[in-house]
Formats: sequence, structure tokens, C-alpha cells
Amino acid sequence: SKTALDDFEVISTIGTGSYGTCKKIKRKRDGKVLVWKELDYGAMSETEKQMLVSEVNLLRELRSPYIVKYYDRIIDRARTTIYIIMEYCKGGDLATIIAKHKRDGQYLDEEFIWKILIQLTQALQECHQRKNGRAVLHRDMKPANVFLDTDRNVKLGDFGLARVLHHETSFANTYVGTPYYMSPELVNNQSYNEKSDIWSMGCVLYELCALHPPFTASNQTELNRKIRLGDFSRIPACLSDDLNNVISKMLHVEVSQRPSIEELLADPIVSGRRSRME
Ligand code: ADP
Ligand code: MG
Repeated sequence: SKTALDDFEVISTIGTGSYGTCKKIKRKRDGKVLVWKELDYGAMSETEKQMLVSEVNLLRELRSPYIVKYYDRIIDRARTTIYIIMEYCKGGDLATIIAKHKRDGQYLDEEFIWKILIQLTQALQECHQRKNGRAVLHRDMKPANVFLDTDRNVKLGDFGLARVLHHETSFANTYVGTPYYMSPELVNNQSYNEKSDIWSMGCVLYELCALHPPFTASNQTELNRKIRLGDFSRIPACLSDDLNNVISKMLHVEVSQRPSIEELLADPIVSGRRSRME
């Protein structure tokens, strides 16, 4: 039997993001708590709707313990709304954790940052190195899209949809949020690629270390200038050179010198940490 809206009960609204509302829901047949994201496709062109459908189909194929699990989608034609049903991440997101530590004036433990680094790398590996099929790019990696489960393991969320929902036709309307994580190639109007996800991951990890993004400015021109130059300070002195080195590699301005996900995983610093963690 097909899943329908009445198979679920809405518990509460979690929040409204840049392109839809997230609600906490309960599956009636077994009481399982999940979330759905409501997206109104009423204003989309046929092409955009096709893209949305194919991106949502891709989400279904991404399987990793470090990626928010996709369950199903329901289309309500009367309301021109698609409901994307996903795993509920209880542990909150990195943006909340960063804000809390900033308020308390306390850095995060280096061990926790390494764990996030390793697990985010594994999440991106699932997306970039797909055996049969093209790479899935995240396109919107930011602390608010990195969730945690109850054991503080990473669950990367909001995959793929950014391309459709941000109408990626030109640079001007690609970016809707705060562009702190925008890569130099995007600043220079070049197309988004796997390495742009690596850059954004570097920015997220940097922010976990420093409690502020690597590049900050009070206006877009100044921010673009700093990003193009790769002008950032070392992470706090209490954190190791190993951690600083790995993050700095992800923030290489030159795309060709920035490591791919394969290269990152092959980096002895990363693989050493990973084997000690597993
Ligand atoms: P944004 O554009 O800010 O990413 P979203 O629509 O993705 O907005 O999310 C809205 C709110 O729902 C945010 O507070 C986010 O943390 C939360 N949220 C999104 N997905 C999940 C999930 N799978 N589990 C728990 N909370 C989620
Ligand atoms: Mg989100």
C-alpha cells in the first residue's frame, strides 16, 4: 500500500528554513518519530519540478550511517506540496553547538572535532564516490545542516536539493544564505564541483575550532576579497598542528591543490586518526 499523509501525525513544527518547513511527525502504524520537509512546488516550472523529482530520487540512494536517512516522499497535488520524510536527528545541529560554546567562551574538545572531521569525510565519500552513477554534491554544507544523533555522531542533511531550490543558473542567485562558506571558484563565477563541497567542509570544521568562520567581513566585497586570497588565521593555539594542517588543505584557494575526498582519506594524518577511532 502506498504511504499517504494520513499515515502520519504532525507532532510539532521544528522550524522554517530557506525553502520549506520542517515538522516532527509520528508514523501511526508503529509510533516511529520522523521529520518531514514540506516544499511547495506550486511556483516551479516543469523543468524545475523534473529536477526536484530526480534530486529526491538521488537522496533515496545515499546510504551512510553519517547521512540523514531518507524514508519516503508524498506528493499532495491539491496543495502542490511535496513532503520529504527523513530520520529525526535528536542531537541538534552544529550551529547550535557552536553558538553554545561561543556563549560560554569555551572551545570544543579536539577529539570531538576529529570525530566530526572523519565522519563528515565519510559522508562526503558516499556522495562523491558513487559506484554506479554521478557524484551527488551537497552544495549547502554549513553547521546548520550537520546534525548529530544521540551519540553525537554526524548526520549530514539537506543533500542535493540546493541545486534545484537555489535555481543554480548563475552565480547571482545561487546563494541565498550567508555566503561565509562560498568557495573561491564560486566567488569567481565558476561552476560548483566536488572540491567546492570540500571547501565548505573546511569552513565548517574551521568554525568548530575557532567558533567563527574562517572568512568574515562586514560586506560582500570584503568577504570576496578575503576568500579569493585565502586570508584566514590559524585555528586557536590550543589545537594541534595536525588538525590545523588538514583543515588548511581543505581551504586551499587553488581547486587543483585542494584535496579530493579520496586524497583526504588517503592522507596519513586522516587515515591514522580514522583507524584509531574505529
Ligand atoms: P535551513 O534552510 O535552515 O537548513 P531546514 O528547512 O533544513 O532549514 O530546517 C528547518 C529546521 O529544522 C532547522 O532548525 C533544522 O535544524 C531542523 N531540521 C531539519 N532537518 C532535521 C532533521 N532531520 N532532524 C531534526 N531537525 C531537523
Ligand atoms: Mg537545512
